[in-house]
Amino acid sequence: MPQDFVPYEVVPGEYSKGLILLCDHARNTIPQPYGTLGLPACELERHIAYDIGAEMVMRGLAAELGVPAIMATFSRLLIDPNRGEDDPTLIRQLYDGTIIPGNYPLSEAERKRRRDGFYRPYHEQVRRMIDDFLAQDIIPAVIAVHSMTDRWNGLARPWQLSVLWDSDPRLAGPLLKAFRELPGVTVGDNEPYDGALAGDTMHQHCTSRGLSHALIEIRQDLVREEKDAAQWVKTLAPIIEKVSALPHNHVMLHHGSRTDR
Ligand SMILES: [Zn+2]
Repeated sequence: MPQDFVPYEVVPGEYSKGLILLCDHARNTIPQPYGTLGLPACELERHIAYDIGAEMVMRGLAAELGVPAIMATFSRLLIDPNRGEDDPTLIRQLYDGTIIPGNYPLSEAERKRRRDGFYRPYHEQVRRMIDDFLAQDIIPAVIAVHSMTDRWNGLARPWQLSVLWDSDPRLAGPLLKAFRELPGVTVGDNEPYDGALAGDTMHQHCTSRGLSHALIEIRQDLVREEKDAAQWVKTLAPIIEKVSALPHNHVMLHHGSRTDR
């Protein structure tokens, strides 16, 4: 593993706004010596490698709102930061019909190398930023930005925008309400996935610490181009600013996880 590869990037911002943005699947970068994990280069342009457009949306929101953000800088094909360490899909050998040769077979030593070299440093950085907020007596709300494919198993997804959440409604509830008021936008509530996933990023950092949080999914065909992503930033930023500022989002409240029940 190259010593100069940093598995995360921090976008600086004002802590006083009480909001942290995260982007787990920002990049399709596979650092050396992994090559392309044995895949043809075109596979790395697909959603299996990263969330298309999510980094542009996250950067746009961070700039517009003046808040800090952290993104993982490695492809989820190497190791998926939005999974628990013991999740069977942490390092995928098969994803959406594509076999990932560099992940099969995978030795225990290699699994550990990726966990310690990429996954854990990213999560430690997230933890550090939350700790920094708390040290300044600011309880942050956290929003993770993802993008979803426009089709799955041959079917078009009807939602332009989705909010995924587990059991803490403080951020998700008002976001859903505001998003549903956007003209012509079909909003998914825990679609196309359920936001309750043990060990994922929201669970590790927010559910476990009682921080208000939500995960936003935007359909990738809507944010693939920079100008379109910028338009969504303009639409979402004022809503996120207003909702995240609600005082109830800056209190530690342990709602637990539905995965514990
Ligand atoms: Zn994602």
